[in-house]
Amino acid sequence: MTTALVYSEKYLEHNPGEGHPERPERLKVIVNALKRAKLWGAPKIKVVEPRPTNRETLELIHDLGYIELVERLSKSETPLDGDTPVRKNTYELALLAAGGTIDAGRVVLSGDALNAFAIVRPPGHHATQKRGGGFCYFNNIAVMIERLKREFKLKRIFVLDFDAHHGNGTQDIFYDDPSVLYMSLHQDPLTLYPGTGFIEEMGSGEGEGYTVNVPLPPGSGDAEYMGAMKEIFVPLTEQFKPELFAVSAGFDAYVDDPLTQLRLSTPAYGWLTRFVVEQAERLCKGRVVFVLEGGYVVDALSEGVVNVVKTLTSEKPLTSVEPRCPSVIGELKRVLANYWEL
Ligand SMILES: [Zn+2]
Repeated sequence: MTTALVYSEKYLEHNPGEGHPERPERLKVIVNALKRAKLWGAPKIKVVEPRPTNRETLELIHDLGYIELVERLSKSETPLDGDTPVRKNTYELALLAAGGTIDAGRVVLSGDALNAFAIVRPPGHHATQKRGGGFCYFNNIAVMIERLKREFKLKRIFVLDFDAHHGNGTQDIFYDDPSVLYMSLHQDPLTLYPGTGFIEEMGSGEGEGYTVNVPLPPGSGDAEYMGAMKEIFVPLTEQFKPELFAVSAGFDAYVDDPLTQLRLSTPAYGWLTRFVVEQAERLCKGRVVFVLEGGYVVDALSEGVVNVVKTLTSEKPLTSVEPRCPSVIGELKRVLANYWEL
Protein backbone atom coordinates (compact mmCIF):
# COMPACT_ATOMS: atom_id res chain seq x y z
CA MET A 1 0.00 0.00 0.00
CA THR A 2 1.02 3.54 -0.69
CA THR A 3 2.06 6.38 1.58
CA ALA A 4 1.33 9.82 0.12
CA LEU A 5 3.60 12.77 0.80
CA VAL A 6 1.96 16.09 0.02
CA TYR A 7 4.53 18.75 -0.76
CA SER A 8 5.11 21.76 -2.98
CA GLU A 9 8.22 23.88 -3.51
CA LYS A 10 5.87 26.83 -3.17
CA TYR A 11 5.86 26.16 0.59
CA LEU A 12 9.45 27.43 0.62
CA GLU A 13 8.20 30.85 -0.47
CA HIS A 14 6.59 31.48 2.92
CA ASN A 15 9.24 33.63 4.59
CA PRO A 16 8.57 35.06 8.06
CA GLY A 17 11.94 36.81 7.90
CA GLU A 18 15.57 36.71 8.96
CA GLY A 19 16.13 34.87 12.26
CA HIS A 20 12.57 33.49 12.48
CA PRO A 21 12.60 29.84 13.62
CA GLU A 22 9.75 28.82 11.27
CA ARG A 23 11.96 29.17 8.20
CA PRO A 24 11.81 27.77 4.65
CA GLU A 25 14.94 25.70 5.24
CA ARG A 26 12.87 23.39 7.48
CA LEU A 27 11.11 21.81 4.52
CA LYS A 28 14.17 21.81 2.29
CA VAL A 29 16.07 19.76 4.86
CA ILE A 30 13.13 17.36 5.31
CA VAL A 31 12.89 16.66 1.58
CA ASN A 32 16.66 16.17 1.29
CA ALA A 33 16.64 13.73 4.20
CA LEU A 34 13.75 11.76 2.65
CA LYS A 35 15.76 11.59 -0.59
CA ARG A 36 18.90 10.43 1.22
CA ALA A 37 16.86 7.75 3.01
CA LYS A 38 15.61 6.59 -0.44
CA LEU A 39 12.03 7.20 0.61
CA TRP A 40 11.31 10.08 -1.75
CA GLY A 41 10.72 8.41 -5.13
CA ALA A 42 10.38 4.89 -3.66
CA PRO A 43 7.69 2.74 -5.32
CA LYS A 44 5.51 2.67 -2.20
CA ILE A 45 5.58 6.46 -1.91
CA LYS A 46 3.54 8.83 -3.97
CA VAL A 47 4.35 12.54 -3.94
CA VAL A 48 1.22 14.64 -4.33
CA GLU A 49 1.25 18.24 -5.52
CA PRO A 50 -1.21 20.18 -3.35
CA ARG A 51 -4.02 22.41 -4.55
CA PRO A 52 -4.99 25.56 -2.68
CA THR A 53 -8.24 25.54 -0.79
CA ASN A 54 -10.73 28.39 -1.05
CA ARG A 55 -12.53 30.85 1.16
CA GLU A 56 -15.75 28.78 1.36
CA THR A 57 -13.84 25.81 2.75
CA LEU A 58 -11.95 27.98 5.25
CA GLU A 59 -15.32 29.31 6.39
CA LEU A 60 -16.20 25.82 7.66
CA ILE A 61 -13.77 26.68 10.48
CA HIS A 62 -12.84 30.35 10.42
CA ASP A 63 -14.97 33.47 10.74
CA LEU A 64 -15.29 35.32 7.45
CA GLY A 65 -14.07 38.50 9.16
CA TYR A 66 -10.84 36.79 10.21
CA ILE A 67 -10.27 35.27 6.74
CA GLU A 68 -10.69 38.70 5.18
CA LEU A 69 -8.37 40.20 7.78
CA VAL A 70 -5.54 37.83 6.79
CA GLU A 71 -6.17 38.66 3.14
CA ARG A 72 -6.10 42.40 3.89
CA LEU A 73 -3.01 42.20 6.09
CA SER A 74 -1.24 40.37 3.25
CA LYS A 75 -1.77 43.36 1.01
CA SER A 76 -0.35 45.78 3.59
CA GLU A 77 2.21 43.31 5.07
CA THR A 78 0.95 43.99 8.61
CA PRO A 79 1.84 41.27 11.17
CA LEU A 80 -0.82 39.27 13.03
CA ASP A 81 1.35 39.40 16.15
CA GLY A 82 5.04 39.74 17.04
CA ASP A 83 5.74 36.09 16.13
CA THR A 84 3.48 35.90 13.12
CA PRO A 85 4.46 38.30 10.35
CA VAL A 86 2.36 38.64 7.21
CA ARG A 87 3.83 39.07 3.71
CA LYS A 88 2.27 39.69 0.30
CA ASN A 89 1.99 35.95 -0.39
CA THR A 90 0.93 34.83 3.12
CA TYR A 91 -2.78 34.52 2.38
CA GLU A 92 -2.17 32.56 -0.81
CA LEU A 93 0.38 30.23 0.81
CA ALA A 94 -1.82 29.66 3.86
CA LEU A 95 -4.58 28.54 1.43
CA LEU A 96 -2.08 26.14 -0.12
CA ALA A 97 -1.08 24.71 3.28
CA ALA A 98 -4.72 24.09 4.23
CA GLY A 99 -5.39 22.73 0.71
CA GLY A 100 -2.41 20.37 0.94
CA THR A 101 -3.69 19.06 4.24
CA ILE A 102 -7.13 18.43 2.73
CA ASP A 103 -5.46 16.64 -0.19
CA ALA A 104 -3.55 14.41 2.24
CA GLY A 105 -6.77 13.44 4.02
CA ARG A 106 -8.66 12.94 0.79
CA VAL A 107 -6.08 10.62 -0.74
CA VAL A 108 -6.37 8.41 2.36
CA LEU A 109 -10.16 8.43 2.66
CA SER A 110 -10.66 7.76 -1.03
CA GLY A 111 -8.40 4.70 -0.71
CA ASP A 112 -5.68 5.94 -3.09
CA ALA A 113 -3.16 5.73 -0.25
CA LEU A 114 -3.10 3.90 3.07
CA ASN A 115 -1.75 6.91 4.91
CA ALA A 116 -0.27 10.34 4.20
CA PHE A 117 1.96 13.11 5.49
CA ALA A 118 1.18 16.73 4.60
CA ILE A 119 4.62 18.38 4.64
CA VAL A 120 3.24 21.89 4.68
CA ARG A 121 3.91 25.35 6.05
CA PRO A 122 2.80 27.71 7.46
CA PRO A 123 1.65 25.47 10.34
CA GLY A 124 -1.84 25.67 11.84
CA HIS A 125 -2.61 24.32 15.31
CA HIS A 126 -2.53 27.68 17.14
CA ALA A 127 -5.14 29.25 14.84
CA THR A 128 -8.65 29.48 16.37
CA GLN A 129 -11.89 30.39 14.57
CA LYS A 130 -11.15 34.08 14.69
CA ARG A 131 -7.51 34.46 15.57
CA GLY A 132 -4.11 33.42 14.28
CA GLY A 133 -0.78 33.55 16.09
CA GLY A 134 2.22 31.43 17.08
CA PHE A 135 3.36 31.21 13.41
CA CYS A 136 -0.15 30.00 12.37
CA TYR A 137 -2.75 31.68 10.10
CA PHE A 138 -5.39 29.04 9.33
CA ASN A 139 -5.87 25.76 11.18
CA ASN A 140 -4.85 23.24 8.52
CA ILE A 141 -5.83 20.08 10.38
CA ALA A 142 -9.21 21.48 11.48
CA VAL A 143 -10.08 22.67 7.97
CA MET A 144 -9.18 19.23 6.62
CA ILE A 145 -11.33 17.47 9.22
CA GLU A 146 -14.38 19.66 8.72
CA ARG A 147 -14.18 19.46 4.93
CA LEU A 148 -13.69 15.69 4.80
CA LYS A 149 -16.29 15.01 7.49
CA ARG A 150 -18.79 16.28 4.92
CA GLU A 151 -17.29 14.61 1.86
CA PHE A 152 -16.89 11.19 3.46
CA LYS A 153 -19.61 11.34 6.14
CA LEU A 154 -17.15 10.78 8.96
CA LYS A 155 -18.57 10.52 12.47
CA ARG A 156 -15.46 10.10 14.63
CA ILE A 157 -11.98 11.54 14.09
CA PHE A 158 -9.16 11.21 16.60
CA VAL A 159 -6.58 14.00 16.64
CA LEU A 160 -3.24 13.33 18.32
CA ASP A 161 -1.15 16.48 18.71
CA PHE A 162 2.43 15.78 19.80
CA ASP A 163 3.85 19.20 19.07
CA ALA A 164 5.56 20.48 22.25
CA HIS A 165 3.16 23.42 22.34
CA HIS A 166 -0.51 22.94 23.15
CA GLY A 167 -2.70 23.15 20.03
CA ASN A 168 -5.00 25.77 21.52
CA GLY A 169 -6.59 26.51 18.14
CA THR A 170 -7.58 22.93 17.42
CA GLN A 171 -8.83 22.44 20.98
CA ASP A 172 -10.91 25.61 20.80
CA ILE A 173 -12.45 24.75 17.43
CA PHE A 174 -13.63 21.29 18.49
CA TYR A 175 -14.22 22.04 22.20
CA ASP A 176 -17.94 21.21 22.16
CA ASP A 177 -17.81 18.68 19.32
CA PRO A 178 -17.94 14.97 20.32
CA SER A 179 -17.13 13.86 16.76
CA VAL A 180 -13.52 14.99 17.18
CA LEU A 181 -11.50 13.67 20.10
CA TYR A 182 -8.52 15.98 20.57
CA MET A 183 -5.61 14.57 22.60
CA SER A 184 -2.51 16.69 23.09
CA LEU A 185 0.89 15.84 24.59
CA HIS A 186 2.72 19.06 25.37
CA GLN A 187 4.96 20.88 27.79
CA ASP A 188 3.28 22.14 30.98
CA PRO A 189 1.44 25.33 29.96
CA LEU A 190 2.72 27.12 33.06
CA THR A 191 6.13 27.01 31.37
CA LEU A 192 5.40 27.43 27.64
CA TYR A 193 3.37 29.29 24.98
CA PRO A 194 0.37 29.43 24.55
CA GLY A 195 -0.38 28.85 28.26
CA THR A 196 -3.36 26.53 27.72
CA GLY A 197 -3.79 22.76 27.78
CA PHE A 198 -4.34 21.98 31.47
CA ILE A 199 -5.90 18.66 32.50
CA GLU A 200 -9.11 20.41 33.55
CA GLU A 201 -9.74 21.63 29.99
CA MET A 202 -11.87 18.65 28.94
CA GLY A 203 -14.36 20.02 26.44
CA SER A 204 -17.83 21.44 27.05
CA GLY A 205 -21.46 20.67 26.28
CA GLU A 206 -21.75 17.60 24.10
CA GLY A 207 -17.98 17.67 23.71
CA GLU A 208 -17.30 17.18 27.42
CA GLY A 209 -14.71 14.42 27.80
CA TYR A 210 -13.58 14.76 24.16
CA THR A 211 -10.62 17.05 24.87
CA VAL A 212 -7.73 15.28 26.59
CA ASN A 213 -4.66 17.23 27.64
CA VAL A 214 -1.45 15.63 28.87
CA PRO A 215 0.72 18.52 30.11
CA LEU A 216 4.20 17.10 30.72
CA PRO A 217 6.69 18.69 33.13
CA PRO A 218 9.76 20.29 31.50
CA GLY A 219 12.49 17.66 31.21
CA SER A 220 10.05 14.88 30.24
CA GLY A 221 11.31 12.64 27.45
CA ASP A 222 10.90 9.22 25.83
CA ALA A 223 9.87 7.40 29.04
CA GLU A 224 7.07 9.86 29.86
CA TYR A 225 5.77 9.89 26.27
CA MET A 226 5.78 6.08 26.30
CA GLY A 227 3.81 6.17 29.57
CA ALA A 228 1.23 8.55 28.13
CA MET A 229 0.78 6.53 24.94
CA LYS A 230 0.33 3.25 26.84
CA GLU A 231 -1.82 4.57 29.67
CA ILE A 232 -3.97 7.11 27.81
CA PHE A 233 -3.72 6.93 24.01
CA VAL A 234 -4.25 3.18 23.59
CA PRO A 235 -7.31 2.72 25.86
CA LEU A 236 -8.83 6.00 24.72
CA THR A 237 -8.63 5.13 21.03
CA GLU A 238 -10.00 1.63 21.73
CA GLN A 239 -13.12 3.17 23.23
CA PHE A 240 -13.56 6.10 20.86
CA LYS A 241 -13.18 3.90 17.74
CA PRO A 242 -12.21 6.61 15.27
CA GLU A 243 -12.73 6.32 11.52
CA LEU A 244 -9.61 8.41 10.89
CA PHE A 245 -6.49 9.36 12.84
CA ALA A 246 -5.16 12.87 12.22
CA VAL A 247 -1.81 13.78 13.77
CA SER A 248 -0.55 17.29 14.42
CA ALA A 249 3.09 16.35 14.09
CA GLY A 250 5.40 18.90 15.64
CA PHE A 251 9.02 17.96 16.25
CA ASP A 252 9.86 20.62 18.83
CA ALA A 253 9.70 18.30 21.86
CA TYR A 254 13.15 17.21 20.67
CA VAL A 255 15.78 17.45 23.40
CA ASP A 256 17.78 20.32 21.88
CA ASP A 257 14.92 22.36 20.46
CA PRO A 258 15.59 26.01 21.29
CA LEU A 259 11.91 26.83 21.94
CA THR A 260 11.02 24.14 24.50
CA GLN A 261 12.35 22.18 27.49
CA LEU A 262 11.24 18.64 26.64
CA ARG A 263 13.72 15.84 25.96
CA LEU A 264 12.35 13.58 23.24
CA SER A 265 14.79 11.63 21.04
CA THR A 266 14.44 11.38 17.26
CA PRO A 267 13.75 7.59 17.29
CA ALA A 268 10.77 8.37 19.55
CA TYR A 269 8.96 9.85 16.54
CA GLY A 270 9.17 6.40 14.94
CA TRP A 271 7.55 4.57 17.85
CA LEU A 272 4.99 7.30 18.49
CA THR A 273 3.94 6.76 14.88
CA ARG A 274 3.91 3.00 15.43
CA PHE A 275 1.32 3.42 18.20
CA VAL A 276 -0.91 5.40 15.83
CA VAL A 277 -0.44 3.03 12.90
CA GLU A 278 -1.22 -0.03 15.02
CA GLN A 279 -4.39 1.47 16.47
CA ALA A 280 -5.42 2.65 12.99
CA GLU A 281 -4.90 -0.86 11.60
CA ARG A 282 -7.07 -2.30 14.36
CA LEU A 283 -9.79 0.34 14.27
CA CYS A 284 -10.02 2.04 10.86
CA LYS A 285 -8.23 0.15 8.10
CA GLY A 286 -4.95 1.95 8.79
CA ARG A 287 -6.19 5.42 7.88
CA VAL A 288 -3.71 7.97 9.24
CA VAL A 289 -2.96 11.54 8.14
CA PHE A 290 0.08 13.35 9.53
CA VAL A 291 0.28 17.13 9.29
CA LEU A 292 3.48 19.05 9.96
CA GLU A 293 3.41 21.64 12.74
CA GLY A 294 6.60 22.84 14.54
CA GLY A 295 10.19 21.63 14.95
CA TYR A 296 13.08 24.05 14.82
CA VAL A 297 16.33 22.06 14.93
CA VAL A 298 16.39 21.19 11.26
CA ASP A 299 18.53 18.05 11.49
CA ALA A 300 16.37 16.59 14.25
CA LEU A 301 13.22 17.68 12.44
CA SER A 302 14.27 15.87 9.28
CA GLU A 303 15.37 12.74 11.20
CA GLY A 304 12.05 12.76 13.02
CA VAL A 305 10.09 13.04 9.78
CA VAL A 306 12.16 10.23 8.20
CA ASN A 307 11.34 8.01 11.20
CA VAL A 308 7.64 8.83 10.83
CA VAL A 309 7.63 8.07 7.10
CA LYS A 310 9.59 4.82 7.62
CA THR A 311 6.95 3.71 10.07
CA LEU A 312 4.08 4.79 7.80
CA THR A 313 5.58 2.67 5.03
CA SER A 314 5.69 -0.19 7.57
CA GLU A 315 9.39 -0.55 8.00
CA LYS A 316 10.50 -1.94 11.32
CA PRO A 317 9.16 -0.54 14.58
CA LEU A 318 11.81 1.00 16.80
CA THR A 319 10.46 0.36 20.27
CA SER A 320 12.10 -0.57 23.51
CA VAL A 321 11.55 2.16 26.06
CA GLU A 322 10.56 1.62 29.69
CA PRO A 323 7.51 3.80 30.34
CA ARG A 324 7.44 6.24 33.24
CA CYS A 325 4.26 7.93 34.41
CA PRO A 326 4.64 11.37 35.94
CA SER A 327 1.93 12.21 38.50
CA VAL A 328 0.04 14.17 35.86
CA ILE A 329 -0.93 10.94 34.09
CA GLY A 330 -2.50 9.52 37.26
CA GLU A 331 -4.35 12.79 37.85
CA LEU A 332 -5.60 12.83 34.28
CA LYS A 333 -6.88 9.26 34.58
CA ARG A 334 -8.84 10.21 37.69
CA VAL A 335 -10.36 13.24 35.97
CA LEU A 336 -11.23 11.25 32.84
CA ALA A 337 -12.82 8.41 34.82
CA ASN A 338 -16.20 10.12 34.44
CA TYR A 339 -15.96 9.68 30.68
CA TRP A 340 -13.60 6.81 29.80
CA GLU A 341 -12.32 3.58 31.30
CA LEU A 342 -8.59 4.07 31.32
ZN1 LIG B 1 5.32 23.87 18.61
